[in-house]
Amino acid sequence: MTAQLNAAWARRFIDLATDVVTTKRVDLSELDRAIGDGDHGENLARGFAAANRAVQESEADTVGGVLKLVATTLMSTVGGAAGPLYGTAFLRAAKVSNVEAIDAVGVHTLLDAALEGIVARGKANAGDKTMVDAWTPAVEAAGEASAAGESPAATLRAAADAAARGAEATEPLVALKGRASYLGERSVGHRDPGAESSALLLDAAARAAA
Ligand code: ADP
Ligand code: MG
Ligand code: MG
Repeated sequence: MTAQLNAAWARRFIDLATDVVTTKRVDLSELDRAIGDGDHGENLARGFAAANRAVQESEADTVGGVLKLVATTLMSTVGGAAGPLYGTAFLRAAKVSNVEAIDAVGVHTLLDAALEGIVARGKANAGDKTMVDAWTPAVEAAGEASAAGESPAATLRAAADAAARGAEATEPLVALKGRASYLGERSVGHRDPGAESSALLLDAAARAAA
């Protein structure tokens, strides 16, 4: 499928994202209980439920319009570290997608902008055991897929699969940013909750395009 992604895709994405963070809220909070304060799943389930409601009540008709509404809602409802980080990611992504439809290169541009927002906000480097470790390989995979002429859906699928591998690869790392960094070496052996939720969100984005 080579169809471009439009506002209907963005709406489906947020709907599926809300479903998955709601279904996985206990698992995500369990990951966060091991190396943080145990609220990551609750934070995201609350935020995405509110964001999805806001999207459904709006008439946003561009990808960016939908993503911007999600950004502002997440910023005001999620709190903690993840609220501003995801809020900034969605806001930056919205700024580069304020058009009716985006192609595969547009998908890469959107994901790259999201990662830049996360890094601008949280100042984490790759390997610090944060969500950046899911987003960095995702953006790289999207760049390769779009350059190879893959469809927007295939580009998102490549990004989501890379994010899942990136999330898994946080397990042996020592956390250097966020709450988990207070544990130092004791953070080893646990998957970073934000990297896991990022992989789930990117998977929802890919499923929405399939
Ligand atoms: P809090 O730690 O405030 O309770 P959450 O539990 O909702 O917030 O989110 C924790 C996640 O946020 C971590 O698993 C990590 O992926 C991400 N995170 C925390 N600090 C940073 C940072 N400086 N840069 C990138 N991601 C971060
Ligand atoms: Mg937490
Ligand atoms: Mg917290």
